[in-house]
This record gives sequence, C-alpha cells and structure tokens, in this order.
Amino acid sequence: KSGFVNIIGNPNVGKSTIMNALVGERLSIITKKMQTTRHRIKGIVSGEDFQIVYSDTPGILKPNYKLQESMMSYVHTALIDADVILYVTDVVEQPDKNSEYLEKIRKSNAPVMVLINKIDLSNQGKVIELYDYWKNLLPAADVFAISATEKFNIAPIFDRIIELL
Ligand code: GDP
Ligand code: MG
Repeated sequence: KSGFVNIIGNPNVGKSTIMNALVGERLSIITKKMQTTRHRIKGIVSGEDFQIVYSDTPGILKPNYKLQESMMSYVHTALIDADVILYVTDVVEQPDKNSEYLEKIRKSNAPVMVLINKIDLSNQGKVIELYDYWKNLLPAADVFAISATEKFNIAPIFDRIIELL
C-alpha cells in the first residue's frame, strides 16, 4: 500500500507536530524541505508493505489577502492530490474559523480524517461536543480526538490511514 497523505488546517493547530508524531511512530526518513512540483514532501514512512508520503501545508505568519489566496490555492492542490486528507483543528480555535476549508473538503474525492488536536488542554465534555460538531458537519469523515504532543491516539490514525490507502 502506498499513497499521499496531505495535512491541512489553520496555522498553529498542530499540523507539523502531528506529522512528526506520525512519521516518528515508525522507522522513518524525514526529508527536510524537499520540494517537488506538486507536493511539498516533508516525511516519508516506509515499512515492509507500505509507503506513506506526508505533506504539510506551509504556515503563514501574518496573513494578508494575497498570502491567504496563495495558501488557499496550495490547499486546493493538496486536496486534489491527496489519497487521504488529514484535516486538523484543535480545541482552542473557534469552529467557524474553518468555514473556508469546509466546502473544499466536502468536494474532495479522497477520504477525510478530521483530527481534533490538543485535547490535553481541554475537558472531556468539550471534546465530546467538538466530536459531535465535526461528525455532524462532515458525516462521511472519520473524526479523531488526539494530542500530538502527548502522543495520544496517534497510532489509531496511522492504522486508519493504512486501511484507507
Ligand atoms: P501548525 O502551524 O499547524 O504546523 O502547528 P505546529 O505543529 O507548529 O504547533 C503549533 C503549536 O501548538 C506548537 O507550540 C506545538 O507545540 C503546539 N501543539 C501541537 N500539538 C499540541 C497538542 O497536542 N497539545 C498541546 N498542548 N500543544 C500542541
Ligand atoms: Mg506547521
């Protein structure tokens, strides 16, 4: 099994930390800032019977309209190219900050996994609330509540990616 897993979401929700956690779960080679025309390759994980290429969305510091536009065009490409999409949000950001992504995500052909990150900063009630919110918004998606820094629920994401490829 092999494929491209693209990680998207707003700045600071933990995309890079999640990718590192996923890549670090197995023997891996991290390619720093390697570029191809279509993919921004950052991490490759190979095993006996699989290879996954992870690609992380470039971060933007102070978004202005132009930067926002070019980031969204990257996101558009990332959605088209992906075999699996990891959509990352966290317990801190307001859910409506995600509206720009939602339409694009709904239209994508690739399976989507929603990762609610940083649950170490939250309580169980809030996590359940967010879980229901996302399940309701994207019924076809798998929703995971995780903590990338605590490495909580990272392995199940990996297993599901392999299943989906
Ligand atoms: P990105 O901009 O989406 O790539 O986000 P980063 O991976 O750079 O993470 C942004 C900040 O959130 C960093 O300070 C991370 O250490 C922190 N962070 C990431 N994941 C978690 C988590 O699960 N829990 C907590 N408490 N902080 C996290
Ligand atoms: Mg990042």
